[in-house]
Amino acid sequence: LSMKIGFIGLGNMGLPMSKNLLASQYEVVGLDLNKESCERFQYAGGEIAQSLVEMTACCGLIFTSLPSSEAAKQVYLARDGLLSSCPADVILVDTSTIAPSLEVEIGTKAEEKGLSFLAAPVSGGVIGAEKRTLTFMVGGAEETLEQVRPHLLKLGSHVFHLGERYDSGTNAKLINNLLIGFYTAGVAEALTLARESGLDLDFLFDVLSVSYGQSRIYERNYKSFMAKENYEPGFTLALLNKDLRFAMDLAASHDLNLPISQALVDLYADAEASGLGAKDMAVIYERIGEQSIT
Ligand code: NAD
Repeated sequence: LSMKIGFIGLGNMGLPMSKNLLASQYEVVGLDLNKESCERFQYAGGEIAQSLVEMTACCGLIFTSLPSSEAAKQVYLARDGLLSSCPADVILVDTSTIAPSLEVEIGTKAEEKGLSFLAAPVSGGVIGAEKRTLTFMVGGAEETLEQVRPHLLKLGSHVFHLGERYDSGTNAKLINNLLIGFYTAGVAEALTLARESGLDLDFLFDVLSVSYGQSRIYERNYKSFMAKENYEPGFTLALLNKDLRFAMDLAASHDLNLPISQALVDLYADAEASGLGAKDMAVIYERIGEQSIT
């Protein structure tokens, strides 16, 4: 790539992803509202843009990794946002998980301006971002994806095209995160029972690692968080709640009633209301532990 790559949103995911681009010898220009995130990126060798216009003037490919639909609206659709400031041949790739309808709106408006857009949410977490093992679930034009694929493979190991519709990758990602919500709450309840039954949780983990109870989420939640009683994110409970709400909106748009999913949404929403939103989602183990004693 002769031009520089832009990266907007240098948070838990964006920072390691942009660092991997730097490590792959790309020149990367970053932007974040948070000063500390900018400083960490500069420390890793990145250059900070003072404005979106400064970034769009020099970047042929721009990634975003933003925490909410509101932030994505601001970055893409505001009067001085990406869609109005990008020259026609720039490719925009959103790796955030935002409302599927907003991905469609951004993609459609980008097309009208002669820009290429992909909605490419990721799975694999901070560890996947650091180790370049992310999975991309991409919605948008296949032709655009083929141009971007070599660059995505510097950030992850799997790139799937879910369809031409801009929301197709996001819908797959929401199904993934609905399962993450299930597994995480399931592991939390099961380990609460195991602990109260006097089982050694480390030994149980080894036993279940070669049994059907094993899952990647059990490993992630137990090894990195629950066993250490450390809930520094990771993936915050608030971000999981955002995705669960999108999944329920998707269900409602198809007139589906999903009672177990609804119970999950209520469980995590209640945990967020109690002040746990900024902690890793695995903190639901503590919440369930406190609430399950009758
Ligand atoms: P984060 O909150 O750590 O990072 C988001 C960053 O965006 C922050 O640094 C914030 O300052 C910045 N930001 C917000 N508004 C901005 C704006 N208008 N302009 C510029 N920067 C802005 O969140 P994260 O965990 O890195 O997640 C980012 C996205 O990736 C989310 O959509 C999330 O659902 C998704 N995701 C996260 C994980 C994970 O494990 N953390 C895994 C897969 C997908």
